[in-house]
Amino acid sequence: PQEWKMYELVARRFMATLAGEARVLSVRADLTCGPEPFVARGSRTVEEGWYRFYPYGRKKEVDLPHLEAGDEVEVTDAPPPKRGETQPPPRYTQGKLIEKMEELGLGTKSTRHAIIESLYERGYIYGDPIAPTETGIAVAEALRKFAGVISSPEMTAALERDMDAIVEGAETRREVVDKSREMLEEVMHLLESSRSQVAAEIRNGIREDRVMGTCPECGSPLRVIRARKSKKRFVGCSNYPQCTVTYPLPQNGNLVPTDEVCPECGSPKVRMVSRGRKPWTFCLDPSCPTKSRENPTDGHNPPPGGEGHPGEEA
Ligand SMILES: [Zn+2]
Ligand SMILES: [Zn+2]
Repeated sequence: PQEWKMYELVARRFMATLAGEARVLSVRADLTCGPEPFVARGSRTVEEGWYRFYPYGRKKEVDLPHLEAGDEVEVTDAPPPKRGETQPPPRYTQGKLIEKMEELGLGTKSTRHAIIESLYERGYIYGDPIAPTETGIAVAEALRKFAGVISSPEMTAALERDMDAIVEGAETRREVVDKSREMLEEVMHLLESSRSQVAAEIRNGIREDRVMGTCPECGSPLRVIRARKSKKRFVGCSNYPQCTVTYPLPQNGNLVPTDEVCPECGSPKVRMVSRGRKPWTFCLDPSCPTKSRENPTDGHNPPPGGEGHPGEEA
């Protein structure tokens, strides 16, 4: 049945490419009732064309009565008022973000994907639809505050245009390089002069990202810590040395806190996001009963044993 559906879709699509155009007549009536605007839309298919073979996405037929500008209509049945809240716009997916970059003139066809990849790699964003990490937000905000020019899409777009101008021979490489060097020098001065503030803002973001949840023993934040000697990362209680709770971590991949607590052992759950792999949520405690049921993580997950807790916050 699955195959049949697939076949039908292919066949119908093929037929549709050979069929004639479909024509739809649409009307729109703008009405006002008191101060509030109302809109009525009607649509009627006048020529079926390819819709005959490929009805998906076909518009619903809605007949509107004939109206002239200035006509008055009577309200016979007022719909009950509905309570609603505005929704934030949905997050961009990778595909949508690439479209947006195209629209703003950022990057080229061949670089856009790599630009987004490097945002993932640096841990500024995670997931798809894409969400920013606290570090990502902090970096963007620090740049906006202290070096507004480089955080604006206009500047990058202007640079791309200049590069196109080199290709077209309208500007020389020299001119463009000089121009951007000058601009970057200016930005460098700006950043240099506010170096400590920039660092503080970004550090705050990184600190936030490293909080993986709450210690089940003492309630203090659990942070990702890098062991000083081995450079291996693990999760440790920020109340050390009073509390010595630690958890081992996989050494690769981006870790994202989830706000979830494991129902079986009370340890926080975290999400692992690595390139080319499905995100994976797991309980931090390697001896948690849920572990024997999930994929074993042994081998990638050596305990930080022997190194002690006093890691350095990288
Ligand atoms: Zn603790
Ligand atoms: Zn657990």
